[in-house]
Amino acid sequence: MSERRHTVTVNVGGVPIGSAHPVVVQSMTNTDTADAEATAIQIAQLVRAGSELVRITVNTREAAAAVPEIVARLAEVGISVPIVGDFHYNGHILLREFPETARLLAKYRINPGNVGAGQHHDANFATMIEVAKEFGKPVRIGVNWGSLDQQVLARLMDANTAQGSPKSGTDVMIDAMVVSALESARYAEELGLAHDKIIISVKVSSAPELWQVYRQLAPLCDYPLHLGLTEAGMGMKGMVASSVALAPLLVDGIGDTIRVSLTPEPGASRKLEVEVAQQVLQSLGLRQFLPQVTSCPGCGRTTSTFFQTLAQKIQDYIRDTMPDWKAKYPGVEEMQVAVMGCIVNGPGESKHANIGISLPGTGEDPRAPVYQDGKLLTTLKGPRIAEDFQDLLEQYVEARYGQGQPVGS
Ligand code: SF4
Repeated sequence: MSERRHTVTVNVGGVPIGSAHPVVVQSMTNTDTADAEATAIQIAQLVRAGSELVRITVNTREAAAAVPEIVARLAEVGISVPIVGDFHYNGHILLREFPETARLLAKYRINPGNVGAGQHHDANFATMIEVAKEFGKPVRIGVNWGSLDQQVLARLMDANTAQGSPKSGTDVMIDAMVVSALESARYAEELGLAHDKIIISVKVSSAPELWQVYRQLAPLCDYPLHLGLTEAGMGMKGMVASSVALAPLLVDGIGDTIRVSLTPEPGASRKLEVEVAQQVLQSLGLRQFLPQVTSCPGCGRTTSTFFQTLAQKIQDYIRDTMPDWKAKYPGVEEMQVAVMGCIVNGPGESKHANIGISLPGTGEDPRAPVYQDGKLLTTLKGPRIAEDFQDLLEQYVEARYGQGQPVGS
């Protein structure tokens, strides 16, 4: 793991983003922002899942007008997460027409490819920066390959053609994204926005191009970088694509905040994108959000579904209980739990965990030894093995992390 690339720190509504701080997990709603109730409910779900910033689209007057009600509804349930406004095409109008919204949003996302063409481009961009300065807000210069600034792209294409086209179309596109981001950031600073009020992203939808564009951008500035694979897709494909795309950059120390852009399955909860982002950071050892459950894959020695059911139950139990545990038991996210299928690796893996259970494999005695801090604690038997293990887990957490008293100390 490389050292984090050095950046300044940008304060987004109280959440510091930059190399001196842990990589921040963020997410985005998919409700109609004008529906303040539905948006506030979804923001609350994302926050409870662990999202540290939440972005909402602000695309119409109705959406801009709803922001104060969204913030008020969240305050009623004790949530004060920084909310980021996502603006395209009309941000300069909405931010001026709705000053209370401009004041309540913690950051404005500006897409330099979507602020207006020709002579309007700079004026509209400048208006958004003026509002940011007025309210002391940071901005994200969010370049996206699907809405790349056509003037910058045309300029670089012409220059490439004039030199006999030494670069491929993709390479010129990557250059244009980097140039668009850096020129926009420089212009924002020329307009008086402080250096530590700018975050940059340059999103594409393929992992190798994401590595290329961020590796090209990273050494050219010290702005914090927001990482994400745009349009990652649905379900397993989206999760794998995002993990593969983000991991090498994070290993190289590039990236200060991440979002996993999953298309949710119809009716599925939006919070999956937060859980995947957390798991990416946790798997890389960059952050610890949840106790890690180690479970073996199972094999021919585990012919019943009992083992899978228990592993799933424990995982769900930990995730559901974590908001309470986190408030009551500092450090509980560091806990390691093992749920193993048989005696081949079960006792060994369980001994390495804080608490672990080794279930009986096919043909083994119907007994499940439980290890705690490397020692055999008890052996569970009978039909309530799952419930009994859950009770032991709860007791362990209370004893180990309650009032900061480690077990045996
Ligand atoms: S621990 Fe046992 S059940 Fe699990 S994969 Fe290894 S041999 Fe198979």
